[in-house]
Formats: sequence, C-alpha cells, structure tokens
Amino acid sequence: MTNKWVPDATAIKNFRTCPELFRLKRIGYKKPSSFDGPITAGQAIHAGLDTWFSLPVSDVEAAKAAISDAYEGPVGVFEADQKRPLSLLLRIMDGYAEKYPREDDPFEVLETEGYQEATITGPDWNRYKLPNLPGFARSLKHFDYCGIRDLRINLNGQNLIVDHKTTGSYLNQLYFDQFTLDVQMRGYVAMELALGRECVGAYINALHIDTRHHKVKPEHFQRHGPIIFEQEQIDSWARDVELDLRRIEGYDDGERWPQYQGGCTAFFKRCEFFEVCRMPAELAAHKLEVEFDKMPWNPKASAEARKRSTDATG
Ligand code: SF4
Repeated sequence: MTNKWVPDATAIKNFRTCPELFRLKRIGYKKPSSFDGPITAGQAIHAGLDTWFSLPVSDVEAAKAAISDAYEGPVGVFEADQKRPLSLLLRIMDGYAEKYPREDDPFEVLETEGYQEATITGPDWNRYKLPNLPGFARSLKHFDYCGIRDLRINLNGQNLIVDHKTTGSYLNQLYFDQFTLDVQMRGYVAMELALGRECVGAYINALHIDTRHHKVKPEHFQRHGPIIFEQEQIDSWARDVELDLRRIEGYDDGERWPQYQGGCTAFFKRCEFFEVCRMPAELAAHKLEVEFDKMPWNPKASAEARKRSTDATG
C-alpha cells in the first residue's frame, strides 16, 4: 500500500481549487522557495512543537534547538531582510512556552507527529445521492488516504487530533470557523476511526507569525476546540473525497486539466503556475523544465525526514 501515490488533504484541496494545479503538483513541479517562506518557517516551528510536546515538562531550549536545526534560511546579520527570520521563530517559541507551560496542559499527549495511512470505507454509500453520469459508478468503493498528524491527545476523556497551525492571519473566530468542516481535520478523524482508534474530533493549536512588525504577544497563541465531528460529517467527507478521486482518475495524465481561476490570485498572491498557465502548452512545458524544481510529492517521505530531524535534535 505504501509504494503507490496516496492522496492527502493537500491533494484534495489543490484539486478542488484547480484541477490543473493538482496535476502540476502531482507531477512534482515546485517553484524554488525563498528561505523564509511560510512553508519553511512553518516546518521549523512544527519541529520545535514536536520536541516540545514529546517531553513531559517544559524545555524551551530543546524546542528552540529543534527550530534552529530545521530552519534553512540565513541567520545572524544576514537575516535582516527576512520576513520570518530565525530570531523571530525562536522568540515565538519563547512566547508560546510562557503562555502554555507544558506542565499546565489540560490534556495528555498520546502520540506526537506521525505519518498516518488508512483505507477508508464508507458505512452506507447508498444513502447518498450520487451523480448519474455515464461511466460514473453509483456505488462507491473504499480508498486509501494519508496525512501527517501533529498530535494525538486525550482531553477530558475524549481522544482528539491536534493540528499545529502557523499563520499570518489574526486568530479570531472567523479564522477558527474554517476548521469546522475542514477536509484535513475530518480526514484525520476518519483515519483514526479506520485504524480502529477512538477519536471524536480535532483541536487547533494556532501560532500567529507577525511578518510585518516581528512582535510576539500572548494573543498570538490560541488554542481552539474541541471541534467534535458527528459520524455523518465523517461519512460525507468520505463521500466527497471519493467523488474527487473518481474525477481525478477520469482525467488523462498528460494533458492540461481544467484551469479553474479560483486559485490564480487567492489571498492576493499569484499562483506559482500563473505564468505557466497563460502560455501555450509547449512553451509552458519548457518553462516548467527550466525554471521549476521537480520533486516527488510524497507526504510519507516528508514526515519521515521531519521526524529524523526532530529526533536528532531532541
Ligand atoms: S494559475 Fe490558476 S489555472 Fe493555473 S494552476 Fe494556478 S490556479 Fe490553476
């Protein structure tokens, strides 16, 4: 099961945003990223939090060492122009540790970061009205799915999945509302259930990164939850993902897939493939080969690499 390409929440979200975006990313095209981009900084903070929660008591120096080890950008005097410099990330870890000492956590940590893979089977697909299209089977089958879970915890007798979020957004109710029907959160819970473990929902551990003023304040750290998912919400998640996977199977691998413009300038940022998508296909193929990195999209490999880095530091 682990040698084939298995979809995760990012794959499904990308496909729903724009099928062509999904195709290009699945092939492995990736714009070379800046050192202090949101993904790199987020991964460094995740490494710090993984160390933080793997220990029973507060050890902020160990968590900061994990952040330093995972951070790939310039440091010291060379970080002056960075939006997310290492020094900011380390202060964020200090601020988080001060607000949420490990000893005061209201939950028990059952497991830290780890790759999950499960076969999802819906209990009763026939209850759903499925599209009656030519070539589209109306009875669904099971599918494999994967993800990198940040934490499993027990809070007041309930098992939950925790996701660490680093964001430039303000942490208000609207920010947290997005997780109530989230593909990623419901997918984590569905996998827990499919693996035979009790799990009733999700818990969000959010850290705001102030890229403009580089300030660190207690309100920049917020925990939210539990977000409880009823079985019906898990079932409808599985139905929707299965339908997406059917559509993905239906496209040809080689050609341009539908270009939905929803992601072209989302959040006032150009999609990394914006120029590519405006070109004739032949020119676009050349540009992709010359200007983009090509890396296999493999959630399991990245989870293992992150784990190795954290273990070496911790
Ligand atoms: S630029 Fe627009 S059309 Fe092209 S992949 Fe990105 S979202 Fe899709």
